[in-house]
Formats: sequence, structure tokens, C-alpha cells
Amino acid sequence: MNQFSMTINGSRVSTSSGYDVLNPSTGEVVGRAPLCSPQQLGAAVEAADRAYRTWRGDESVRRETLRAIAGIIREHAAELASLLSLEQGKPVTSFELGDATTEIEICAMYFDYYADLDLSPEIVPSDDGSRIAIHRRPLGVAALITPWNFPAYLSSWKVAPALLAGNTVVLKPSEFTPLTVLRMGQLFSQALPPGVFNVVAGDGSLGQLMTTHPLVRKISFTGSTVTGKKVAAAAAQDLKRVTLELGGNDPAIVLDDVDVDQIAPQIFNASFGNAGQVCTNIKRVYVHRSKYDEVVEALAELAKSVRVGDGHDPRTQLGPINNRPQFERVRDLVNDAKSSGARVAAGGSAIEGAGFFFQPTILANVSDGTRIVDEEQFGPALPIVSFDTEEEAVARANNSHYGLTASVWSSDSTRAASLLPQLESGTVWTNAHNRFPLDQPFAGQKWSGIGAENGRDGLLGYTQIQVTHEVHG
Ligand code: NDP
Repeated sequence: MNQFSMTINGSRVSTSSGYDVLNPSTGEVVGRAPLCSPQQLGAAVEAADRAYRTWRGDESVRRETLRAIAGIIREHAAELASLLSLEQGKPVTSFELGDATTEIEICAMYFDYYADLDLSPEIVPSDDGSRIAIHRRPLGVAALITPWNFPAYLSSWKVAPALLAGNTVVLKPSEFTPLTVLRMGQLFSQALPPGVFNVVAGDGSLGQLMTTHPLVRKISFTGSTVTGKKVAAAAAQDLKRVTLELGGNDPAIVLDDVDVDQIAPQIFNASFGNAGQVCTNIKRVYVHRSKYDEVVEALAELAKSVRVGDGHDPRTQLGPINNRPQFERVRDLVNDAKSSGARVAAGGSAIEGAGFFFQPTILANVSDGTRIVDEEQFGPALPIVSFDTEEEAVARANNSHYGLTASVWSSDSTRAASLLPQLESGTVWTNAHNRFPLDQPFAGQKWSGIGAENGRDGLLGYTQIQVTHEVHG
């Protein structure tokens, strides 16, 4: 049995208690994760607070360190991708529908990207000869809580800008997928001073302890809206700065002039990638009535042709759902749609066996008011809804507490672009979905989040303003 340890103050820390992390493809044990005690969490936060005094000082050291971490990730990419696939379920390689190898490569890209991002002060014009500058100073200890769909990638989104800005970090990966991030903690320690980057693991109450610790000055959380609201409430007690990325019920609107053969594979990949477990994935498709049957048919054919299986089987394109609660949620939403009269155009059932496999599912003859249309399913099941007018489609797309991403599909890109300003989502595309160049900030509207990640805006979220105003007398 492979026992994993935490990284606290630069040292590997084991615990007498722990729990088994299961492979969602087989139910077999991948490794044993530690359970961090409140005392150990306190030690991690205090170590981060001590390390902050020095780490905040030298920006060039931080940039060099981030580059070194990118190198370490690349050096250990095969090992990390294999472990990630075992505990998360995604294929080791697949590309079109998301895979562990690409996820690890992107982690290295984020560290390189932030190592080069400019953080120089902005000079404010002055008419009396004084020098006024806006600096971006670090906040202190950052508590980062990351989910199970992209354990490595979403941790790197947070860790790289937090460290570059001069903060120190205590990171807690999801209890379902802690092992890759625990291993990253050990590997990154080769490049980092003790206490700068701490990784803890546990389940039950650790997140709440992190978000209420008085030495923590910044919280960044990715996960459900229900938990995000608790995190925001905890942060408010101490006015800790907070970034929340809380998922979405992302609509795609397909207009009456589309070339169905051209758009269907793109919509399919943007919905079923990572087995549907992506906050930005297309979760509901609104199709003009004149194209409805054709789109349903094309997506159903794609769903039937996808190879679902164990992430370590090189033929696999789509892995399992990561964990039992999520598997049961997807199954319940599909069953609810079926009992409400939905037509199953593809899939529709769990796959028998030890893993949390679910057939890629296309549901037709559904509409708003059905749970799988109104709620975030976060799994490999996609409802297709018809509409008659563009105004109606936009209104129905916006009729959600979520506001993360949306897309409009049309052969006339000007026509599609004219709808974008009307969509209440933080990122909106025409004829594409899930495109995220590194410089592009990512921010949710409404209940999809607070603040931004990625790009310069993501970096600024780990800073506070200090204005220096020098009068030369
Ligand atoms: P949650 O989003 O509810 O988050 C669980 C994490 O939050 C754990 O790390 C937990 O740690 C921590 N946590 C729980 N309570 C608190 C608290 N009061 N304060 C601080 N941290 C806390 O995860 P689930 O796995 O339950 O996912 C449920 C749903 O979330 C999914 O169905 C999906 O819709 C959505 N989701 C969205 C993602 C996204 O990318 N936006 C990613 C994954 C899921 P601990 O228990 O140790 O305290």
C-alpha cells in the first residue's frame, strides 16, 4: 500500500490515521491519504506565516522558483499523469476529451506563464512633481481549496499566481483526489524554502478550519455553490480576501443556419470532455426547432461512438465519473428526466461493473423545468432543448442562478456575436466553447463566482493595493 504524506514546513508529514483513495474505474485502492489534525493544520499555517516574511521580499527569486517548479513538473510528468488518471479516472492520454497528460503539461505552462508576468507598479500622473505609484503587494497566507475534476490543473491555477505575488500557501486538494497534489507538494519542496508551500489533506472539517484561521488572509475555493457560500460567510467574519469559482449550468444556443456536421463534434467535446465534469462544459443545448432533430441525431451518434473505459487503457476516450455521490447524482438526474418524458437518444444508464461508469447520454424532448436542464449535472449526460426565437433562447439561457460560460453557434458569426452581450455569463464564445488561452481571465457572474482567475486579473486577486506617494521637497 502506497502511503502518501503531507508537506508542512518543507518536511514530509505522515499521520497515524488516514483513508484509502479509490480508483473510480475499478474500486481498487490507489493509495492511502493522510488525515491532517487541527494541530498539523495550525503548524502549516504558522509555517506559511513565518515563511511569508522572507518570501515576499525578492520578486526575482520567486520568478526563478516558478520556472524551476515548471521544470520539476515536466521531469515527473509521466509519473504524475499516471497517478492522476488512477485517482481521478480520466484517460492518461486522449486529448480531444481531456486527459491526465495534458492536465500535467498545462500545470507546467501555468508556472512558466506566471514566472514571466509583469507585476511592475503603475505610475499615476502628478502635476506637482511628486511620484505616485500603485503597487501590488501580497496578502500573506493563502488558503487554497481545490476540487476533484482537475486536481492538478486547478491547484496550479491558484498556486502559481499566489506564489508569484509573494504570498505563501496552504493547499488542500479534494478528499476524492488528494494523491497527485500531495506528490506535487513533495516535489515542489525541492525548489521552495520551507513553509512557502504546504499541502494538507483530510475530509470533514479541514476546509472550515482553513477558512476561519486568523493567520489566513486570502481564500481561493473552487467547488460547489453551496460550499462556496459557506466559504464566503467565513471569509466575511475576518474580511479575508476571497476568490470563488463555483460551477455553472452553461448553455449553448444553436441558431437555425448552422452546419450541423461541422458544429456537432465541437459541441459534443465541449460537453463530454472529462466525462462532463468541468464547470465550463456545455450543460444544456438550446437548438432552433428547424435543426432540432438533426442536432439530436448527430450528438447521439457521437455519444454512441465514444469508447468509455479505464483511464489506463490506451483505447479509452472517456473515463468514469470520479466518485459515488457524483455518480448517483448524474444517475438520479437522468432517471428524473426519463420519468418526466425525455426521449433517450443515446445512453441513458449506468454501466454495470465495479467502476462509476455511465453511458454518454443524450436526452431529447426535455425542456426547462426538468431538473437536468435547470441544475448542473456535472457528468456525461446532455439535455437538448428546442426554441423558436433568439430572444426566447437568450431569456431561457439566462434564467439561471449560474453565469459562468455560454456559446452561440451560427454560420453567420456577426449574427452570433450580436447575442453575446445579452448573455449573463463571464465568458461567452461564438462557434467555440472552452477556449482558454493563458492570458484570458476567467470570472463567473451571479452564483458562478466572485473574482477572477487566470491572466493578469487572476494574479491581481492575490494582491492588495499599496499607493506610494513621494513628495520631493
Ligand atoms: P464541494 O464543492 O462541496 O467542496 C468540497 C470541498 O470543500 C472539500 O475540500 C471540503 O473540505 C471543503 N469544504 C466543505 N465545507 C467547507 C466549509 N464550510 N468551508 C470551507 N471548505 C469547506 O465538493 P463536492 O465534491 O461535494 O462537489 C459537489 C458539487 O460541486 C458537484 O456536483 C459539482 O456540481 C460541483 N463541483 C464544481 C466544481 C467546479 O469546478 N466549480 C468542481 C467540483 C465539483 P473538508 O470536507 O475537508 O472541509
